[in-house]
Amino acid sequence: MRVKLIKGFANTYLVESGGEVLVIDPANPPPHPLDGVRGLVLTHGHFDHYMHVYDWISMGVSGVLMHSEDVPLMEGAKEWVERYFGVPVPEAPPVEGYLREGDVLEVGGLHLRVWEVPGHSPGSIALVSEGVVFVGDLIFEGGAVGRTDLPGGDPALLLKSLRRVLTLPEDTTVYPGHGNPFTVKDARTWLSHMLSGP
Ligand SMILES: [Zn+2]
Ligand SMILES: [Zn+2]
Repeated sequence: MRVKLIKGFANTYLVESGGEVLVIDPANPPPHPLDGVRGLVLTHGHFDHYMHVYDWISMGVSGVLMHSEDVPLMEGAKEWVERYFGVPVPEAPPVEGYLREGDVLEVGGLHLRVWEVPGHSPGSIALVSEGVVFVGDLIFEGGAVGRTDLPGGDPALLLKSLRRVLTLPEDTTVYPGHGNPFTVKDARTWLSHMLSGP
């Protein structure tokens, strides 16, 4: 497995295995050339994570894979974001399939398991494989956690999701939706004050 990070305002990850590619969060334009795209996953439904989704659709996929609970966040996002922030936002992308707890995505012989990690949004998911976890906007480098003041946000659920992800082995690489990757060990240190509470 190889993980390539395309940086922008939000991160795009290319998970490559056996000549196939799984794309996590089409926030940025695809590199050229790129073959073997097998799937397009959204960690959650916030528009900054699918800004360039239409540049990726048709590279072997017809839509995104995501949790159904975040679909409502995408509906209407174009209209209100453009009105209030003046940023052009794509229409909500077509959904190729819904993901839920326990689903397994296979790419080139590699398996990624879906964990539901609500809190930042109701349909936030993490993708877990040997030594890696993709967490979307659950936690960031330095120990900042995802905001919970947006529609569907829930601080108590976020804490529960965080505690769960931080039960992974300490040398697991954590790939966040913004900024640089880090390890579970780092995150446990940064968040020790939150993790030890009731
Ligand atoms: Zn978000
Ligand atoms: Zn984000």
